[in-house]
Amino acid sequence: MRTLEELTRPNIWALKPYSSARDEYSGKEASVFLDANENPYNTPNNRYPDPLQWELKKKIAPVKKVLPEQIFLGNGSDEAIDLMFRAFCRPGIDNVVAIEPTYGMYQVCAAVNDVEYRNVRLDVNFQFKADDMLAAADMDTKLMFLCSPNNPTGNNLDRKEILSLLERFDGLVIVDEAYSDFSDEPSFLSELELHPNLVVLQTFSKAWGCAAIRLGMAFASSDIIAILNKIKYPYNINRLTQEEAIRMMEQYYQVRQWVKSLLEERTQLMEEFRKLECCRKVYPTDANFFLAEVTDAKRIYDYLVDKGIIVRNRTNVALCHNCLRITIGTRPENDMLLEALRQYKDL
Ligand SMILES: *Cc1c(COP(=O)(O)O)cnc(C)c1O
Repeated sequence: MRTLEELTRPNIWALKPYSSARDEYSGKEASVFLDANENPYNTPNNRYPDPLQWELKKKIAPVKKVLPEQIFLGNGSDEAIDLMFRAFCRPGIDNVVAIEPTYGMYQVCAAVNDVEYRNVRLDVNFQFKADDMLAAADMDTKLMFLCSPNNPTGNNLDRKEILSLLERFDGLVIVDEAYSDFSDEPSFLSELELHPNLVVLQTFSKAWGCAAIRLGMAFASSDIIAILNKIKYPYNINRLTQEEAIRMMEQYYQVRQWVKSLLEERTQLMEEFRKLECCRKVYPTDANFFLAEVTDAKRIYDYLVDKGIIVRNRTNVALCHNCLRITIGTRPENDMLLEALRQYKDL
């Protein structure tokens, strides 16, 4: 691996971060706070929140078996993705390599930051080879993006190939595990110790049922996390979100229950979906959604919209011609989808 200094943009490496009132004094013991120009009324929302969210990180750390210093919390995983570009990729010079198809946000963030985005097409089984990713890279490749289970295909990427890439690529490898709570395979969090170039992304938006609070997590070496902390907005996670996430950490049993029932629903829905006349193929999945090839994705999508049922039309995505991406809902929601599609007639 290149050193972090070699990988980081020189201006970011040299940056002295903004120091907020809460950074300069973060002790709890004081009782009179006249340092941040806050309003003394309207407790508790009058006070700026903890910029580094220590209370929440201390709850997350033991569950994820990492140190609090190895956690970055962002306004969704999307903030962590954007900060990876801003920290490591020189606009107009550096590039990143990613699998295709995958989550669209990597490419959007690359474009926003004026960073070249190189695609490596998955094979027909939606798998990739470390060799192909490395062949697409050059001296100026700073980051590689993998998503496992992958969106929109649903499958886990081949673990051996991910490990091979971590061994052989001298930049940073980001493994987006937004859906790993639904998968039987172990998280790559356990590989952080062995691979200083690994960044794992997870989120409260899917299995944790908290898309509205906007909370994403990045796990990496404390040195990488320190760089992200240096460039984030000082108070990027608001108090209400921190408080709600702390509450959710105490409801872990509830999350496990949701996952279990969604996996049961998934089996059932996929089995019934396969029998539909408009279904050509249901792809295997490790997530809370599945990809299905249908007779006419556009027409079926419009038909469902008309019935008030929204799925995701992925027909214009590489390798996904005539494919719909279907999220697992509650039993009644899934039944409504199936009932509507049983009534659907191809032209
Ligand atoms: C949904 C999703 C996320 C979550 O993004 P948030 O900003 O945390 O809501 C991240 N990565 C992938 C691949 C996703 O599908």
